[in-house]
Amino acid sequence: MASSLWYLYVLTKKKFIKRFLQAKTEKKYILPPKRFRKIPPTVEYPERCISCGACESSCPSFAIKMIFFQDHNKKLPKIDVGACIGCGNCVESCPSKVLEIGNLKEETLSLPWNVPKYKNYIIDEELCVNCGSCRTVCPVHAIDYDKNTHKIDTNKCIGCERCVEACPVVDAIRIYDEKVLKEKFDLCFRIKFSRVLKEEERSEVISETPRIVKSLCINCENCVDVCLGSINLENYKVVSCVKCGSCIEVCPTGAMRIGEVSRVPKIRDKCYIIEEDKCIGCRICYRACNVNAIDICCDTRLPYINPEKCVRCGVCYKECPVEAISLTDMENSLKLYRVRKARDNFEAMVIKDLDEISKKYAQLKGDLLEFSQKEVEKTLSKIVNEKIIKQDDSDATRDDTC
Ligand code: SF4
Repeated sequence: MASSLWYLYVLTKKKFIKRFLQAKTEKKYILPPKRFRKIPPTVEYPERCISCGACESSCPSFAIKMIFFQDHNKKLPKIDVGACIGCGNCVESCPSKVLEIGNLKEETLSLPWNVPKYKNYIIDEELCVNCGSCRTVCPVHAIDYDKNTHKIDTNKCIGCERCVEACPVVDAIRIYDEKVLKEKFDLCFRIKFSRVLKEEERSEVISETPRIVKSLCINCENCVDVCLGSINLENYKVVSCVKCGSCIEVCPTGAMRIGEVSRVPKIRDKCYIIEEDKCIGCRICYRACNVNAIDICCDTRLPYINPEKCVRCGVCYKECPVEAISLTDMENSLKLYRVRKARDNFEAMVIKDLDEISKKYAQLKGDLLEFSQKEVEKTLSKIVNEKIIKQDDSDATRDDTC
C-alpha cells in the first residue's frame, strides 16, 4: 500500500515537473496593446502646440512633418495617415498633449475587417503588370508573388505607401479608406432594407453582366446581399444577372467591374527606347516584357518598343545585358517607334510580295513548261498526221497507175 502510494506520488511529481518545464513563458502570449490598431492620431489642440517637434522625432515611420500654418502663425505637426503605423509614440512624447489617438476609431467600428487599419492597400490584378517594383521597395516584405500575381499581406502592411509610389501604373495599387468602405456597407444595408419594404424595384441599368476582380474582392458579401440574380463568391462568378447594377454600387473595393480597363503609366512624358547599334538581339527584353510592348523587326530581327503599350516599369531596362535600353522624351521615342514600325511594315510587305511573286513565278514556270510540252506534242502529232496523210495519198496514186 505504502509503495503504491509512493509510486502515485512520484508519477504526479513527474507530471507536474513536466508540465512546469513545458509551460511557455507568459511573455510569449502577450497580445499587442490596442493602440496597434493602426489608426492615425489627430491634431486635436493646435493652440496648445509649442512647435518643439518632439512628435516628429519620435515617429518611427517618418509620418510626421512640422509645417508652418498661416492661420496659427506657427509650425504644427502634419500627419501622413498613409505612412502612420498607429504606434502612438507621438501622443506619448508630446509635452503639451496636442495629439490624440483613437478619434478616428468610430469610422472603423463594425467593419468586417480582420485587422483594422485606417487605410488598406490592394493590388488590382487586371492593372498589375507583375514588374515586381512594389515587392522590391516594401520595407516589411508584405508583398508576395505567387501564381503570376502580386498580393499585399494586409496583416504585415504598415501603410508606408512606398509600393504605391514605386508602381508604374495609375491605380494598380488601390487605397481603401475605411470611412469609404463603411459608407458602402451602409448603402448596402439601405438597399437591402428598402427591398424588404418593397420600395425599390430596379430595372436594367448596366449594359453587361459584371465580372468579379478576384484580387480586389474582400468577401464582404455586400454584392450577394443586394443581388436580384445570383452570385457565387466561392469561384468569383456572377451566375445570373438582371443588370440592376446594385452590386457595383455597393462593392466597397470596386471588385465588381464592367467594361475594359486600360493601364495608364504614371510617367507619360518619357519612354524607353532600344538603341539598335548597341543591341545584340538576345531578346531578353522581349521575353521580360509583361505587356507585349516590344516588337521584333522582321528584317533586322532586333526588338523595338511601342510607347503606346509600354507602362515604363523598367523591367527591360534592368534586364538588358548590354545597356542598350535608355529613357528618352516621349516625342523622340514615338518618332523612333513610327519610323521603325513603318520600316518593319514596308519590309514585311516586300517579303510578303516577294513570297507571292516567287509563288506566282513558280506557277507561271510550271504553266509555261506544261504549255510548251503540250505545244510540242501538238506540233509533233500534227507533223506525224501530215506525214501519214501524205503517205496514204502516194500509196493511192501508185495503186491507180497499176
Ligand atoms: S465583389 Fe465586392 S461586394 Fe462582392 S464580396 Fe467582393 S468586395 Fe464584397
